[in-house]
Amino acid sequence: MAERILVEPDLKFIKDLGILGGDDLKKCYQCATCSVACPISPDNKPFPRKEMIASSWGLKDKVVKSADPWLCHNCGDCSTRCPRKAKPADVLAAIRAQAIVEYSRPRWLAEAVNDPKKLPILIAIPVALFLVVGSITGLLNFKPDLSGGIAHYKFFSTWLVDMHMVPAMLFAVTVLALGLKRFVGDIHQNALAEGKTDQQTIEVAGFVQAVIRVIPTILTHKKFSECTENKDRYIAHFLTFWSFVGLFIVTSVIFLVLYGSYLLPTGPLHGPWAQINPIKWLANISGIALIVGTGMMIKSRLNKPDQKSAYKDWFLIGIAFGLGLTGMLTELTRIAGWAPVTFAMYFLHLICIFFLIAYLPFTKLAHLAYRTAAMVYSEYAGRKFVK
Ligand code: SF4
Ligand code: SF4
Repeated sequence: MAERILVEPDLKFIKDLGILGGDDLKKCYQCATCSVACPISPDNKPFPRKEMIASSWGLKDKVVKSADPWLCHNCGDCSTRCPRKAKPADVLAAIRAQAIVEYSRPRWLAEAVNDPKKLPILIAIPVALFLVVGSITGLLNFKPDLSGGIAHYKFFSTWLVDMHMVPAMLFAVTVLALGLKRFVGDIHQNALAEGKTDQQTIEVAGFVQAVIRVIPTILTHKKFSECTENKDRYIAHFLTFWSFVGLFIVTSVIFLVLYGSYLLPTGPLHGPWAQINPIKWLANISGIALIVGTGMMIKSRLNKPDQKSAYKDWFLIGIAFGLGLTGMLTELTRIAGWAPVTFAMYFLHLICIFFLIAYLPFTKLAHLAYRTAAMVYSEYAGRKFVK
């Protein structure tokens, strides 16, 4: 007699996928056109059809505790070719967003980041922190002495900046690391349960070798360039990714120079840095790349009616675009000598930075880490996902 399997659908999971942009899921009639159309799906157990079936049955663990939804690069080729307009690319994106909610702690914060009604609270957190801590410590000065020229640290001390950004960074790294540990553990347990591996634990040396093999693919965005329908997304993501790398280098150098210079007899070296300084060039080039890259993403999403843009998509694009724009306006208004405007821009810029860092483990930016982990695990497990 055939084995009987009891399926227990998680109805809340299906509803959540709908809220996160996968509300056309039920239109799927399982023709498999999407799996054939996908340029990067493996021949062995290809996606996204099996994820469409599992999701419509509410089999949450099957898709959330799997690496496959993360191997998808959301090019949209499958959605364009789907005869039922079930938008499989959007369903996979919703699964990824749901996975981040599942693996991130505290969960209420992960859910708040996906809820537009909670946006005012998320904005109020850094504003209140800056104003309260700045007033108590005296490190926020609304009437700074500008006799030596406009400098943002005279308005909002660099100590005050780092008092917030360093703990936010430590919080984000810890949340992300714990989430990734749970995620990789779960995909391995799933692989064990499905008989895809017989190793009880992940072998560290093999996993590190897989990391080394996968890094070039990530740095060159090779998978994005293999998509056909939405090729412009490759340039937008490439620019945005490298702009963040550039801005991270700039911030790290400024941080080290500033705090290292406290040891000098001349005292601390505060900004603004000279325009001819190579670090300033890198900052300006990265800022422009961020505005152009995120601007292209906004244009692409507005021009593609067959691709659904959920709140979670606009949340991250909005912060990244705001970060680039407020950074550039802070610089330009300082050069123009508009002190009140440049200080206001700087305050907004710091809110964007806080948003990006503190909420990183809960936004689409965390995809970079989860996708990397999934790609590494797939490489480690020998799942070739390039045709
Ligand atoms: S999502 Fe569309 S293309 Fe894929 S199996 Fe369902 S109906 Fe077919
Ligand atoms: S969005 Fe692109 S990469 Fe993802 S499943 Fe569809 S075709 Fe494949």
